Amino acid sequence: MDAVPSYLEQLYAAGLLLPTGVDGLYGRSRMFEEVVEHIATRLGRWGRERKAELLRFPPAMQRDRLVRAGYFKSFPQLAGTVHAFCGNDRDHRAMLRCMEVGDDAWLDQQEPTDLALTPAACYPVYPIVAQRGRLPASGLLFDVRSWCFRREPSLDPTRMQLFQMQEYVRIGSPVQVLEFRDGWMEYGRHLFATLDLPCEVDVANDPFFGRSGKVLADSQREQKFKFELLVPVTNAEKPTAVMSFNYHGDHFGQAWNIRTYDGDVAHTACIGFGLERIALALFRHHGLDTRAWPADVSATLGQSA
Ligand code: AMP
Ligand code: ZN
Repeated sequence: MDAVPSYLEQLYAAGLLLPTGVDGLYGRSRMFEEVVEHIATRLGRWGRERKAELLRFPPAMQRDRLVRAGYFKSFPQLAGTVHAFCGNDRDHRAMLRCMEVGDDAWLDQQEPTDLALTPAACYPVYPIVAQRGRLPASGLLFDVRSWCFRREPSLDPTRMQLFQMQEYVRIGSPVQVLEFRDGWMEYGRHLFATLDLPCEVDVANDPFFGRSGKVLADSQREQKFKFELLVPVTNAEKPTAVMSFNYHGDHFGQAWNIRTYDGDVAHTACIGFGLERIALALFRHHGLDTRAWPADVSATLGQSA
């Protein structure tokens, strides 16, 4: 008997995702991309209604800014830094000779640049806010979206190395940012109900690196700093986080010296949406062809049937 094709094999067979030779890196078809854009537009409505400031950045950022944000302390295993050839003509000839004989030694000539790949859409926002001076009394609300890199190759299509994250970022007093985060935990559930997707919200932790990381993860859970909205996608028993609700306390406020209207260190929170993960959840539950999706789901997404 033939083995049941994995979800990734089904997505390849339907032409929704295209293999690139790298686990966790996929090409996408028009149908897939249209679903992603419809999700992004639907999510964007909440921010438009609240006059969130929309900011977009390229998927790379100043490496030093990522260092200052503490990313390499917490997640060195996920970070991607950009390297480039910086040699002269002689170095170039040596490089080509190595390549001809398949010798990876040419990589020794790749030198670090000042760039790192953006690991979450909100990182570029904090230093920019800090440069603006004190926050207004009502705090700030941003709508950001970026391609994000995380070095976590996998055959699970929901775990990509490059994916698109949309986020709402709230910066202000502890009361302001917690109200935002907790409100979204309710609204997120409602949103997924309107997409006919089963979901649960649970306390979560980030994948902090190493032995000291275990302590950080435990404390993050204990303090209920992170929640995730989970939907069964590739594994019915182990649902996938499609959305996260993160309270950072004063971590970014301290790192960038962001001050509230009253001069206190600002607190921050962000709501992250994995656009591909939400699309993959929809394809999993409603079928691999959007033309056969339930009318109410298509209507919620604003798709014409
Ligand atoms: P996080 O900052 O880890 O909470 O990520 C925010 C959201 O991005 C998650 O809830 C996921 O939906 C999505 N996400 C995180 N990592 C990946 C990945 N490797 N592949 C695809 N989506 C991801
Ligand atoms: Zn964030």
